[in-house]
Amino acid sequence: MSIIRKTAADFRVAPNFADYERERAAFSWRAALQEVAGAGGRVNLAELAVDRHAGSGLRDKPAFRFLERGCAPRDLSYGELSRLTNRFANVLAGLGVKRGDRVFVIAGRIPELYVAVLGALKNGSIVSPLFSAFGPEPIATRMNLGGGSVLVTTDLLYERKVAKARERMPTLKHVLLVAEDGGTTDLPDTLDLATLMAAASEQCETAPTGPEDMALLHFTSGTTGTPKGAIHVHGAVATHWATGKYALDLHPEDIFWCTADPGWVTGTSYGIIAPLLHGVTSVVDREEFDAERWYAILQDEGVTVWYTAPTAVRMLMKAGAEIPAKYRFPELRFIASVGEPLNPEAVRWGKEVLGLPIHDNWWQTETGGIMIANTPAFDIKPGSMGRPLPGIDAAIAKRNEDGSLTLIDTPDVEGELALRAGWPSMFRGYLNNEERYRKCFAGPNNEWYLTGDLAKRDADGYYWFVGRADDVIKSAGHLIGPFEVESALMEHPAVAEAGVIGKPDPVVGETVKAFVSLKQGYTDSEALRMELLGHARKRLGAAVAPKEIAVLPSLPRTRSGKIMRRLLKARELGLPEGDLSTLEGGA
Ligand code: AMP
Repeated sequence: MSIIRKTAADFRVAPNFADYERERAAFSWRAALQEVAGAGGRVNLAELAVDRHAGSGLRDKPAFRFLERGCAPRDLSYGELSRLTNRFANVLAGLGVKRGDRVFVIAGRIPELYVAVLGALKNGSIVSPLFSAFGPEPIATRMNLGGGSVLVTTDLLYERKVAKARERMPTLKHVLLVAEDGGTTDLPDTLDLATLMAAASEQCETAPTGPEDMALLHFTSGTTGTPKGAIHVHGAVATHWATGKYALDLHPEDIFWCTADPGWVTGTSYGIIAPLLHGVTSVVDREEFDAERWYAILQDEGVTVWYTAPTAVRMLMKAGAEIPAKYRFPELRFIASVGEPLNPEAVRWGKEVLGLPIHDNWWQTETGGIMIANTPAFDIKPGSMGRPLPGIDAAIAKRNEDGSLTLIDTPDVEGELALRAGWPSMFRGYLNNEERYRKCFAGPNNEWYLTGDLAKRDADGYYWFVGRADDVIKSAGHLIGPFEVESALMEHPAVAEAGVIGKPDPVVGETVKAFVSLKQGYTDSEALRMELLGHARKRLGAAVAPKEIAVLPSLPRTRSGKIMRRLLKARELGLPEGDLSTLEGGA
């Protein structure tokens, strides 16, 4: 493995972080929180991200530059963002929406989404952004689990994904719609957001939230049961700020582009909050991936810091070298990526094609912010996720049968990645599911959070991702719970049982493959399989639905009746079938 060494010549601006041990020793979360929020105890993510700058020299600086095909770019300054988010907070207050009420947001990357998220935080409401490519089922499930009382979405998304399911969402009181054609809407039982915004005041008293008040609800998937609502608090601001500094190396003059959608945690923590905290300008592109367009954005917008994902990098690699040869990236100075393993070839491709290696980093919905990273000043070992950031203690651990925990000190030994609990953006619970939350912690005083990922640490303290400890699927960077997909398939009258696995894919990491057995009276056919795929897609949406389906006479189950996804996967991939002692009816 060839290490990518850094020298002073690699930096156009001095990195925020150069002496690893010294910075770690000097760092404290209390000091980080004070630096960003002051000492008063009042902490509101939106106030610190927006109003702090709107009242300073950054008032007229673009906070966001929104790009859309066929339209001129639309800049929104810190001052305008402050006024619009005040208006939105007043819209909510006018509807009687209170501190602690849950506001769901489902939209593409449009300005109204950013205003709604930040405005709801100002109102002290709890925000849950959902991916707009979810179908009606994942939306209804999450809305009900989260007790959403407000939904902000567009007229088209509402008609396609929510209207028919609305009677199954008993907590939902107000639906605020953005007209996708830029006008107004008058769909039954909804309110037109533009009209409400025009009538609302620009003055607003931000809710005086404290660091432990709940701010965001991000849903994530497990192997079994319903999705889990990870609770995040306003005090997470310290992590958003510190990781923006250390892992993304944000400097005041940066033009930053986070390609993640705010429907996922990266798109909220780093597509909205962290860059605003640093007072930089963020580029937001409404369109889907398009290699030519992406290179053009990097060049034409003068992006300096780019945060993207391995699937996107692999899609750029696949699109060939001719396209980037037409562009120049003299402003680009730092590239980071997250969400799935970043293969060493991709790290090096960055250096060849964009002139910079790609810096992998690791975190997850529960951690609220980046935990382990390759930071600008340090050599990169391609294939490694990097080292724990200041304020983060990581370990490789083994859960013992008696519930105790052993930390593995020997380098290069595989175990579960654990983090010492207590960093500010650590989730504070899974909504209404204390037991599932408790199970994530172990060791003396439950001081270690167990991440569900398998990893190794080498002798230099670099962490290497090995795989997931559970059956969840990572496709194009999105975490998909097999149970949610299986449940949707089971709703079809022909399906007796369903098992869903992630099938390795060179570009998107994994694709979703389903196995089903049929009820009596149904026989396997191409037409039936297509019907089942269509059924799943309609309910779950394209981001979650299986791409492939196979019909088996029966699915392998354990003696206790659980479908053995591990075995389905081993058989699919032609791998050894492993321990079959629990298989129903023997091997
Ligand atoms: P999510 O909660 O949807 O953000 O997904 C988090 C999961 O994505 C982690 O638990 C890992 O399994 C995976 N993941 C995130 N970052 C990386 C990375 N740099 N390398 C490998 N896997 C990653």
